[in-house]
Order: sequence, then C-alpha cells, then structure tokens
Amino acid sequence: MGSVAKRECARGPRCRGRDPQTGQPAKLRGSNKGDVCALCERRHRGAIASPGGSRWLAATTQAIETVLSGKASLWDLLELDPANGGYGWKSDRGKVLTLLDSETLYKVSGWLDERTTEALERDECGRYAGLCYEVRTVAWLTSLPPDAPLLPAQGGGISPFRFVGYYVGSGRRKDLTKVVELDRLRRASRHYSERDLATALDIPRTTLQQMIQRMDEIRFSSEEFTPDDMAYVAFGRRRGREHNPDSF
Ligand SMILES: [Zn+2]
Repeated sequence: MGSVAKRECARGPRCRGRDPQTGQPAKLRGSNKGDVCALCERRHRGAIASPGGSRWLAATTQAIETVLSGKASLWDLLELDPANGGYGWKSDRGKVLTLLDSETLYKVSGWLDERTTEALERDECGRYAGLCYEVRTVAWLTSLPPDAPLLPAQGGGISPFRFVGYYVGSGRRKDLTKVVELDRLRRASRHYSERDLATALDIPRTTLQQMIQRMDEIRFSSEEFTPDDMAYVAFGRRRGREHNPDSF
C-alpha cells in the first residue's frame, strides 16, 4: 500500500495547484480519470484536448506544446511571447501559428472572438487584441494559393481588411496592404520583374526599389510581421527613431 507513485498534473510547471515551495505539480486524486488536477480542470475547461474532442483544438494545443512545457490549453495562446523572435527567428507565437493550417486558425479565431470578456480577464500581458489580429491575418494568408494576388483590383477577390498607414507629420496615407502583396509576389514561383511588380502594385519604380531595399534590410516576411515592420517598408525611417523590429 502506498508504494505506487501518485500521478502528477499534466500541466507540469504551469499547474495551478503546484506546490509554492517546491514548484512540484499537484498530485492527482485516485478518483481523477483525467490527467490534470481539479484546479487546472476548472481553469481550462473546454480548452484542453480530450479523446474524441475537436481536431482543431488538439492540433492547436499540440502546436503550443512545441513551445511551452506541460499539457497545453487554448488559453496558453495568451502566454506565447509575440516579441521574442528577432532577426531571422520566429517568436513563440509566430512558431505556433505557422504550424497550423488556415481552417484550424479560423476555428481558433472564432473561439477567441466568442470569449472576449473572459480573455481580457485572463490577459495579464495585454496580448489579446494582437493575438486575435495575428491569428486572423495568418489564417487568411495561409488560405491563399502562393500566386494569388491580395489586391481586389487585380484578382477580383475581396480582401478582408486593408492596412493603411499615415506619414508622420504630413498626414498623407499609404496602402500598407501593398507591402504584403509585394512580399508574396516576390516569393511566388513565377518570376516578376521590377516593372511587373511596379505595374501590379500601381506604384512608381523608384518607390518599389526603396521598398524592396527596406524589406531585405529587415527581412520582412508576410508570415510574421508587426505593423511597425509594414510601416517601415512603406515609409522608411522615421526621423529621430531607429527601426527596431523587436520593440513591438
Ligand atoms: Zn494542475
């Protein structure tokens, strides 16, 4: 009797019931048929994958587990650092989102949208709004075939949003959607000449060349970008402020 080691909560280091002194996850009661403790079960009800549960939920928590230790919950999306990427590296949030297909991401987006009040209560780092925006953007981008144009004028498709940026000071505006479109055309399997690109995007050739230069400088990727990155590619350096992709 008592020689059988008690099972521990599968949330591991992120268990709500872990021992404050030792950091050990809570032990599971013998009557517990699941693999997380009662506190974690209450905190993450419906957000942890279960046998026979939704595939999108399982795929999402599995992706989160590539970055965070312990059994993941959809609420852990708020724990993923969106800014620890830096040059040539994806942030934790970027790594997880780019593992998922468009259909899954739309499900995640819908789940987040339905839980705004609860999400804001849990959102200790102020990440909810940025997370929703990024999930939806990546969902949309990954749903497009690589050569499909993003701009409604060229493809007849309706883009779900437009990014618009303003020149600081002068108040003139630029359509930042063209930054994403340019990145996609440059990565397309078909080669576009500078002239093709300038025509497709309806921008002067010199503007195009400057955008490409800045894009290469910060290694812009439409798989993962911040509004700051887009504004930098479109407008260039703001006076008195260095561009820093990690500052977001
Ligand atoms: Zn627990």
